[in-house]
Amino acid sequence: MPVEKRHPIPVKEAIHRVLQQDIYTEQTRVSLYESEGYILAEDIVATHDIPRFDKSPYDGFAIRSEDSQGASTNNRIAFEVIDHIGAGSVSKKTIQPGQAVRIMTGAQLPEGADAVVMLEQTVETAKGFTLRKAFERLENVSVKGEETATGDVVLHRGQRINAGAVAVLATFGYAEVPVYRKPTVAIIATGSELLDVEDDLEPGKIRNSNGPMIAALLQKEGIDVVRYNIQMDDYDSSLSVISSALEQHDMVITTGGVSVGDFDYLPDIYQALEAEVLFNKIAMRPGSVTTVAVAQGKYLFGLSGNPSACYSGYELLTKPAIYHMMGALCCYPAIVRATLMTDFKKANPFTRFVRANVTLTGREATVRPSGFNKSGAVVAIAHSNGIMMLPGGTRGYHAGHQVDVLLTSVEMYQQELYI
Ligand code: AMP
Ligand code: MG
Repeated sequence: MPVEKRHPIPVKEAIHRVLQQDIYTEQTRVSLYESEGYILAEDIVATHDIPRFDKSPYDGFAIRSEDSQGASTNNRIAFEVIDHIGAGSVSKKTIQPGQAVRIMTGAQLPEGADAVVMLEQTVETAKGFTLRKAFERLENVSVKGEETATGDVVLHRGQRINAGAVAVLATFGYAEVPVYRKPTVAIIATGSELLDVEDDLEPGKIRNSNGPMIAALLQKEGIDVVRYNIQMDDYDSSLSVISSALEQHDMVITTGGVSVGDFDYLPDIYQALEAEVLFNKIAMRPGSVTTVAVAQGKYLFGLSGNPSACYSGYELLTKPAIYHMMGALCCYPAIVRATLMTDFKKANPFTRFVRANVTLTGREATVRPSGFNKSGAVVAIAHSNGIMMLPGGTRGYHAGHQVDVLLTSVEMYQQELYI
């Protein structure tokens, strides 16, 4: 059989084609306590003002500001304390001239009061206190509605729910949150050389690292994954497993078998499934054979078997697709410019993606490869927090060049405290 000729498309075009698909999950509701990491399916409108009432931001005394006019070090003005309220209680009294109410942080200002004197600004007397400065109207008061007014859109549809959004939802009484369902994903590692993690090594065999790695990446997004058994390079059995996975899941990710080798059956399987192949060649290294297809309104990600390529393929194409499916407004990773600390002299016509370590601490971002970097390498993935992108061209890259780095994980990574 003649080997088909494939046409590489730019990485950007590949990502674009993936995100152009009309593939979305439907709306559902989850408990507030489970909602972190979901994408919000509706705008959230403030159902009341925040703060709901004029309140005290300090422990102190609520007064009428006009009563404090003319106060100075030589002319201390005395107040009589007529009530004492903590957060959550409301005073039944109305403050009259010369009176004050002892008030705690978060408590509602009593009737008549329009300023709060901090405890440390007073000197205690038998009936109350004295102060030595004049207060302005609303001084030390958190004014009703100063943060949000009733009707303000406080969270947007398509926004990823973070801890702050959880706090906002709780504020407005959302025990259940409207979100888009997370897709269920099948992971199928293909390759006759593959063994499970529990297996003893045999001649010519290697353990399947891609399957567990992709499962871990998806778990980070809180996505349910089903790990299928390793598939030998066999057309019939692979086709049957992939088509049943397609029935049961929103997305099927395979690794391996997308090249043009004698035992690479994924291209034939896409054909048998009557899948629309969005592309099967990308102008990138590694992972140029990465293939994405759509069948029965579902994505089929054919990631390369090479671990580095498999990893970059997920970060570049699969992860954005997952966010797209969930209706996210932001589907692309963060990218920073950093100073390259090593040479990459060999020119390549394709964009090179290198597992890298970017240092973001301090003034200038710097980046270096995170280890041995051939496409089959696995250790460098573990030590990376980004992927540097070296656009293809006739020239190589040198230490000191500015390059773009896609951030993959910027969780806690400093050994020293930098503040
Ligand atoms: P393939 O994409 O099937 O041509 O495989 C490319 C390279 O990746 C080969 O050296 C495979 O042995 C290796 N490989 C394939 N699948 C996996 C996997 N699941 N885990 C680790 N390495 C793999
Ligand atoms: Mg293979």
